[in-house]
Amino acid sequence: MGEKSHALYGWIFRVFPIRFPALPEESPVSLEIETMIYLTQEERDRIVQTLLPNVTLTRNDLEAKFPPRKESVVTRFAPSPTGYLHVGGIYMSMICERIAHQAGGTFFLRIEDTDDKREIDDGVWTIVRGMKKFDLRVDEGPIGPNFSDVGNYGPYAQSDRVEFYHVFVKELLKKGVAYPCFMTEEELEAVRTEQTAMKLVPGVYGAFAKWRDADAAEIEKAIAENRPRVIRFRAPVGLRARRTVFDELRGNMEMDDNYLDVVLLKKNGVPTYHFAHAVDDYLMRTTHVIRAEEWLPSMPLHFQLFEAIGVERPKYVHCAALLKIDGGNKRKLSKRKDPEANVEFFFEQGYLKESLIDYLANIADSGYEAWKAANPEKSFFDYELQIERFPKAGALFDMGKLDSINKERLSAMGKEDFAALCLDWAKTYDRDLAALMEKYPDLAFRALNIERLSEKDPKRFSKISDIRAQLSLFFPETFEELRKNAPAWPENVPADVRAKFLSAYAEAYDPTMDKDAWFAHLKEFGKPFGFAATGDEFKAGGYIGRVGDLAMILRIALCASKSTPDLYETLLALGVGEVGRRLAM
Ligand code: GLU
Repeated sequence: MGEKSHALYGWIFRVFPIRFPALPEESPVSLEIETMIYLTQEERDRIVQTLLPNVTLTRNDLEAKFPPRKESVVTRFAPSPTGYLHVGGIYMSMICERIAHQAGGTFFLRIEDTDDKREIDDGVWTIVRGMKKFDLRVDEGPIGPNFSDVGNYGPYAQSDRVEFYHVFVKELLKKGVAYPCFMTEEELEAVRTEQTAMKLVPGVYGAFAKWRDADAAEIEKAIAENRPRVIRFRAPVGLRARRTVFDELRGNMEMDDNYLDVVLLKKNGVPTYHFAHAVDDYLMRTTHVIRAEEWLPSMPLHFQLFEAIGVERPKYVHCAALLKIDGGNKRKLSKRKDPEANVEFFFEQGYLKESLIDYLANIADSGYEAWKAANPEKSFFDYELQIERFPKAGALFDMGKLDSINKERLSAMGKEDFAALCLDWAKTYDRDLAALMEKYPDLAFRALNIERLSEKDPKRFSKISDIRAQLSLFFPETFEELRKNAPAWPENVPADVRAKFLSAYAEAYDPTMDKDAWFAHLKEFGKPFGFAATGDEFKAGGYIGRVGDLAMILRIALCASKSTPDLYETLLALGVGEVGRRLAM
């Protein structure tokens, strides 16, 4: 039987689904997929030549240019340049970096910019800068001056690799495992509507794939008419096929095999993610594709694509997505809803990169926390990740946990280092605050370091931006602002008593006293104003209030706030001059 008669035979089968009793009987179309290729080799060659006349490179050229690498592990981070670096991207690239470098391998960056709707100008900058900020060592990619490529397996942006995809698509077309499809938007929409009505999986497949088994004359006519077209994969299996795929983290998984004739090249000749993945990870000699679990269902298709190209596929590791608890439910960290999905958020808020790295490493590898505790002086980049210890289900991203890691780090910093770090941060993220810190450097230094590195350190700063609240109590300008909304004075203290106490205390305050002497003095000092030194004295009667009321009055007078750092330290940080000025206001 010639190939043409196969075509007819296949067509009859699609119209009269007699072979497959398991298919829904009421289905008006055959759900079986014809895998026989009907076009002759000669026809296919001719069609390829009209479709892609300008591709001069060959697969051999490419294979010679990009020979197998010597390293046994090659990983990549492959983000789209959306102008936004998701914290999940840092998480993934940390994992990719370690898995490569801990084995003496290579970690490269590939920019997946084939979806021009999403691409934005500073997208590459955002990614490269973000990775640099986290000290992620990238060996190859657009990491040279002006984002020029470094490495021998480039170009590293997919938009510069279009010819490579065409080389492979040409081969697939010749083999008959890809075909041009001229379906219009309206036709595709009609198919979707029909499929929805029939409760079928939407997509172009089987009998819905109008051009899958079109004959050469039809195709050549459509090309001659210059009709817009995509190149589709000719899915090699039928609807009920199953496939076992292996993931390094999850082991063997049996899934429905792919039966969709997915688009390989879009109308503009640019590849889809799926096809670019197969071509790029082959030519760039990736050994481990480590990516988000959202790609897990695409594995059968990707296996098919590697088989179609006829090369060994890389190993796959699908990492659990970062989740957050929202209203009691877990959901993926969302670019739209969660400011913390954007790594920029962590810089703005003043988290240390080491804290975020440690935190993400804890999520990535259940052995990290104990290792880090035993090796506090070492960094994530000294650690050997183990894929078996990665979480398989959604990994919870918990800001509270990150805060506590960051708080410990900030609290352990020396005073000078901490003050310098805060100023650096403010210069970028809070210019007004930085200006005040530079205007009052000593005051800023004292105010920042109140109670720090002491036994009683309440560790007030989870992130550098928390310094704003504390510093605003101290700088004269911000204090003026706070005074506009100062809290009410304690009600039990008459205004004249308060005023007398404050002006007398402005005279009496002695910064040379140590904390115990100072407090003992305050207790004595308050008595003539009607304030008991202890609760017992107060209960005995004859007092307006107790020393605690005086402390509150001082806090409000000095800082326009009921909650200040330790009062003794606050007084010292303000200094006699400013204490006097504020108490006299
Ligand atoms: N560009 C894809 C993404 O943004 C890359 C996935 C992969 O690593 O293969 O998720």
